Amino acid sequence: MPGDLIVALSDGNFISFAARWPTSQKALVGIKDFAFFPLTLPNVARNVIAHELGHAIGLRHNSDPAALMCGRPAPCRPDLFASPTEKYFPLTAQETATLRTMYPADWRPH
Ligand SMILES: [Zn+2]
Repeated sequence: MPGDLIVALSDGNFISFAARWPTSQKALVGIKDFAFFPLTLPNVARNVIAHELGHAIGLRHNSDPAALMCGRPAPCRPDLFASPTEKYFPLTAQETATLRTMYPADWRPH
């Protein structure tokens, strides 16, 4: 399938994921069906998608439960994104700096 970043919104029930091939600047994101827990919780789906897109562009997990990229081996799980108000969990200052290094203002895809 052509494309640099392919996002699959599935009808399946699995752990949402991102797979990345940095040398070819390709990535695949798979998001489980929103009908399955924990994507049924308010505010979770948007942050799971943002989290997986974060992996797709090169971010790894951290251990800050208030941050978007928290994940294994830290005990953060997607249900922690649940919130009665719509919000995106933030990147850390280090993650923002990492992205600015990876993708400077003059960065262009191959
Ligand atoms: Zn993750």
